[in-house]
Amino acid sequence: MKILVLNCGSSSLKYQLIDMDTEQVLAKGLCERIGLNNSRVTHKIFDGNSFEKEISLQNHLDAVQIVMDNLLDENYGVLQNITEIDAVGHRVLHGGKFFNKPVIVDSEVKNAIRECFVLGPLHNPQNLMGIEACEKLMPGTKQVAVFDTAFHQTMPTKAFLYALPYEYFERYQIRRYGFHGTSHQYVSMRATKMLDNSNLKIITCHLGNGSSICAVENGKCIDTSMGFTPLEGLAMGTRCGDIDPAIIKFLICEENLTINQIDDILNKKSGIFGISGISSDFRDIEAAAINGNERAKIALEIFYYRCAKYIGSYASAMNGVDAIVFTAGLGENSPITREKICSYLNYLGVEIDKEKNNCRGREIDFSADNSHVKLLVVPTNEELMIAKETLALI
Ligand code: ADP
Repeated sequence: MKILVLNCGSSSLKYQLIDMDTEQVLAKGLCERIGLNNSRVTHKIFDGNSFEKEISLQNHLDAVQIVMDNLLDENYGVLQNITEIDAVGHRVLHGGKFFNKPVIVDSEVKNAIRECFVLGPLHNPQNLMGIEACEKLMPGTKQVAVFDTAFHQTMPTKAFLYALPYEYFERYQIRRYGFHGTSHQYVSMRATKMLDNSNLKIITCHLGNGSSICAVENGKCIDTSMGFTPLEGLAMGTRCGDIDPAIIKFLICEENLTINQIDDILNKKSGIFGISGISSDFRDIEAAAINGNERAKIALEIFYYRCAKYIGSYASAMNGVDAIVFTAGLGENSPITREKICSYLNYLGVEIDKEKNNCRGREIDFSADNSHVKLLVVPTNEELMIAKETLALI
């Protein structure tokens, strides 16, 4: 069984072709700058061979066509015929109230994805474009939609409802949805395997450019830090996370800003980038902090502190915690981040093994022997999770 996984962003398309019998990635690649000048394509196959080229990509249909061409390429291809692909799994950002699990795409599903455009304006239209491009170029091949919000649909009302007039929930479905669901689900499942116990209270920390934390009890999400949009929660690369909503009116008045400018500031100019004034990349900030840059130091302190506060609140939400899992770019690769966050959590019985914590990008249990809480690094693999969900459905 071969499953193609597609992740269509606003101007990009990431893909992986996975052989599900061995879970081997046969080929993967990235189309960038779709719809702009100088679009680029990179393609890599299982033996390490790869190529990169500039090519005109007007839209996502062009990009999916290039993916097919790459997979069939004479020198860098891994397929003889496109019909060897058994199904396509699509990452879809927003499933709104409609989806609490992956689904096979039909016209009703496409309409529901369309209804969620207003909730995920930067992603859902592109996700649907990717689906429709595949329908056109691979007629008859099953398409599966896997939603970033689906895993969080088990949250109880007390966790997902905002304290706004109830009519806005009824009229517009304004509520917490949560994101990175495929990643939180994958790493929490891996954690239950690593610890050989499926009845656990787990806190999963997806710490990357976008970051979120999730409380998972007996395999089900009960709360998560991102909300109606991926702006809420932790301080992130360029996103502000939690702020007093009154700051928005204050800034609009004082700086004479439009609502779009405010949106841009909160999403693209805040977070670690906004505080440090240096970069949104944690590697740059860590390096600047080591060199004594005070704003880089405070940016990191704010990030660690807020992570620790969320972990504390989720330990309360579940009345305990058995395991804390770190994943994504920073969670997987930054021992100092894990150490600093854990240093706030000794009251929960959290104790790290410094030597074991000194690792990057691989599964490890870095809890000290006397730790009451298991501390794990689990590299996320959203593509494999999407491929598994797709296979299960077909
Ligand atoms: P996203 O998918 O949200 O774009 P990633 O999960 O790829 O983000 O994470 C990107 C972040 O991870 C970047 O800020 C990067 O600096 C950080 N990161 C990656 N590797 C390291 C490392 N070795 N040390 C510290 N931070 C790292």
